[in-house]
Amino acid sequence: MTDAITLLGTKGGPAIRPGSSMPTSILVQLAGKTILVDAGLGCTAALTRAGIPLTDLDAVLITHLHSDHYLELGPLLHTAWTAGLKTPLPIHAPEGLDTYWQGFLASMAFDIDTRIADEGRPDLASLAPIHVLDDTSHLRLGDLTVTTLRNHHPPIKDSFALKLTGADKTVVLSGDTAPLPEMVDFARDADLLVHEAMLIPGVQKIVDRMGYKDDRLLKHILRSHTPAEEAARIAQQATVKALALNHLIPADDPEVTEKDWLHATEPHYSGKIHIGRDGMKIPL
Ligand SMILES: [Zn+2]
Ligand SMILES: [Zn+2]
Repeated sequence: MTDAITLLGTKGGPAIRPGSSMPTSILVQLAGKTILVDAGLGCTAALTRAGIPLTDLDAVLITHLHSDHYLELGPLLHTAWTAGLKTPLPIHAPEGLDTYWQGFLASMAFDIDTRIADEGRPDLASLAPIHVLDDTSHLRLGDLTVTTLRNHHPPIKDSFALKLTGADKTVVLSGDTAPLPEMVDFARDADLLVHEAMLIPGVQKIVDRMGYKDDRLLKHILRSHTPAEEAARIAQQATVKALALNHLIPADDPEVTEKDWLHATEPHYSGKIHIGRDGMKIPL
């Protein structure tokens, strides 16, 4: 297995429309481990499209409890179960995920109970042990280690950037965050920084299109996400070897092209820049 990051879903935010990319999920293949980070809508099909049997996942990490990062976790686990999952797949997520998982299991109880009794399947509930992720987490999965950094994503407090290290390589995933000075040290000299990014002129257009009467959505986006220019500056200060822009806002505006993202970032970062696209595989 080659060490690589695959951006399965690169869109910021939960809504999809004709022509848009899909909400967030990232496949990490590193040091012999296969990890899914975030489980936004579309992650299950995207994993199989990337050639990953669902039963091959070693862990799922959820960065925070905004729906564009975990809406499809239940369907993913249920589908992995029907695909033959027999050993527990650990889930690491901020406090509160258990409510979602218990609710999902309850909503599907008829199907799950039927399949256990009728098809002899193991108990789904026991196949997805949930562990709380916080800013002291230090996970070891074989030769892969994962550490966290609490980022700044108001109003959500439990929102984390992740650093995955193994096989002499380091990849840092920013999660959803406003520009965070601590990210520079956290991502120092990483082989790849996957950072969320927005283009400010495009954000206003999104909000206008939604037609809301107040400006809360605009304020939320601006105070809790990172302008592309800032993501590039952080990458430069951290001297990372490559930067991938992800969780793109806007993601479904045909007038916003790769050129616009490069135009915003190239003046501030001298390394390799990847503009995220669903299914983009970046070798480490
Ligand atoms: Zn998000
Ligand atoms: Zn978010």
